[in-house]
Amino acid sequence: MGRAFSLKADSKCGECNQPIHEGDIYTIIYEDDNSGKIKCLQCDKCEVDDEIAYYRKTGEISSHLSLEAAMANYHYTEGGPNSMDSLRADVRRFFIKYKKELVEIAAGTDRIHDVIRAFEEKHWLPYLKKYWNDTDQRGHETKVGDIKLMLWGCAGRVLITAERGNSDITMIFSDYESQVTANGGQQGIHGSQKAAQEILQELVDAKKIKFKHNKSVTMAGL
Ligand SMILES: [Zn+2]
Repeated sequence: MGRAFSLKADSKCGECNQPIHEGDIYTIIYEDDNSGKIKCLQCDKCEVDDEIAYYRKTGEISSHLSLEAAMANYHYTEGGPNSMDSLRADVRRFFIKYKKELVEIAAGTDRIHDVIRAFEEKHWLPYLKKYWNDTDQRGHETKVGDIKLMLWGCAGRVLITAERGNSDITMIFSDYESQVTANGGQQGIHGSQKAAQEILQELVDAKKIKFKHNKSVTMAGL
């Protein structure tokens, strides 16, 4: 590494041209990984987290971003006024900077959760749980229209992954006989939340879902 970087008095953001002052948050963009040559500086507004940038562009998220949003939303809404204080500085900054997106994603997760509950009440609790508990086979699959469904379970938990095109959503349920009220949820997601919600709604609307054993199905959604 070369000498320590010092900010010049007339520094500007290489993208939006706003002045960058001492004490501002900014990022140094290098020409390449090795030379240490600085290409430009980037102001905090122009520097966007990769996952957030991808979400803004495509509406698509990963399980990771979905979890981050759920955690952030807890701190915004239920954690109390000083809830963010205990967070690591970079996490706190992420939650503050991308609040709009994270609130939006958390709301999408709530809507997905409602459809998962509907699926659980219509399909899982009344008959799919019995199908699962009656079989010794682990991996199962089926199709509903153009949606591919995979089911796999372990240690009292069952995962059902629904997949169409580039989107997939994985639900998690309990297989305990004694559990009769819906308490499942989202285990994983890739793609847009809107697509996931549509996939799940089509499953809810399906009359009956019949799985078949398929040994190539191993760990659904993982
Ligand atoms: Zn800028």
